[in-house]
Amino acid sequence: MTTTQHARPTAPHSRTQHLVNVSGGKDSTAIYLLALESGRPYRAVFADTGNEHELTYEYVARLHERTGGPKVETVKADFSRQLARHREYVLREWPRQGIDDAIVQEAARLHEPTGNPYLDLCISKGRFPSRMAQFCTSELKETPITTQIVGPMLKAGPVLQWLGVRAAESAHRARLPRFNRHESGSMLWRPIFRWGIEDVWAQHRRHALRPNPLYAHGMGRVGCLPCVNCRKDELRRIADRFPAHIDRIRRWEDVVSAANKRRSATFFPAVTDPTDADRPGSYSRIDTLVEWSRTTHGGRQFGLFFDEQPGGGCASDLGLCESTPSSEDPSAAGTHTARAASMQPAFSEQPR
Ligand code: SF4
Repeated sequence: MTTTQHARPTAPHSRTQHLVNVSGGKDSTAIYLLALESGRPYRAVFADTGNEHELTYEYVARLHERTGGPKVETVKADFSRQLARHREYVLREWPRQGIDDAIVQEAARLHEPTGNPYLDLCISKGRFPSRMAQFCTSELKETPITTQIVGPMLKAGPVLQWLGVRAAESAHRARLPRFNRHESGSMLWRPIFRWGIEDVWAQHRRHALRPNPLYAHGMGRVGCLPCVNCRKDELRRIADRFPAHIDRIRRWEDVVSAANKRRSATFFPAVTDPTDADRPGSYSRIDTLVEWSRTTHGGRQFGLFFDEQPGGGCASDLGLCESTPSSEDPSAAGTHTARAASMQPAFSEQPR
């Protein structure tokens, strides 16, 4: 018997408004479908970080057509005010610090909002997020969902947020409660907390819904592409299958570097060059890391390079970012083929 059968929703309040957080990944899709099965009216929200794959945008935009559920609403963080504030600081303080005028003017020009939340956040902070400073989840997902959707809903009554978090995903997630109050005043509920990955696929099969196609491309998780919690093998697959996204990260590194005083910023900023053990402290740009991600055994390579870094995993109370597969998934330690196979539910009929 699967845990799926024990997860029927019970609303704590008759006026409760239900909000499902959707990332485009398998777990949040499972709770979207669970809410649909409950027969209650609900809203669904997706936070667009600006660092997502086009297949995820398409999957989220068409989820309602394929399931009969509500259209997923999209929110986006806006960093215009932070950029304007920091631009003023650059123009006022950098010349006093003796910084060359050409550099000041270039940095100030780059503080014009691009409209891409991830890039604008990094320009305004002068750096990319990292495992140790994972401000991306709160700034790009939690805050826009809270201010643009949850806050207005709370004015009409209690809000219950449904979260696609499972205990089996990570030790951190296993310590989370099934229910708790969020600082916004809403309640958080993790209805598939005890589900295994097979329950999640069974839920997709029950609705004849194909999961996000990124899993079929060998991605172990759906979310930012790449995510700061990306592992070595994931980075290699992204570079092999979606080189345009590596090109984008390279352009972003150029922009964020030119917009900050250090004239340096790397997407994975807290790591030294894994291909050059003789020069510890030299930070690695995306191309160096892609090159390293293709190394196998022998020579100078740091096999556990990313995995040894402290932090890791989405630390948000809301669990809005999908985790990299853990030991619960046979794919976690397996080959690309094994991972891709286990990331696909088997369908007995034609999926949508
Ligand atoms: S933790 Fe990863 S998926 Fe989540 S916002 Fe940060 S980069 Fe994106």
